[in-house]
Amino acid sequence: MICPRCDTDKVEVMVKSPVGDVWEVYICKTCWYSWRSTETSDKTDPKEYNAKFKIKAESIPDMLVIPAIPPLKK
Ligand SMILES: [Zn+2]
Repeated sequence: MICPRCDTDKVEVMVKSPVGDVWEVYICKTCWYSWRSTETSDKTDPKEYNAKFKIKAESIPDMLVIPAIPPLKK
């Protein structure tokens, strides 16, 4: 399976529906996008995912990180 957002194939099943075999939730181990199998194709199909929200896997290490929380003042 290919991640709709970053187009890599490091996708795993995160959870399956507790009753029946109704849906699965997948997670991408590259960009951490997750999606449910029952969502519309614009959220599940790499070709139909909105190009504005695509991520290049190689650019992830250069993205800004959330600043660390400083120690609490006493
Ligand atoms: Zn991804």
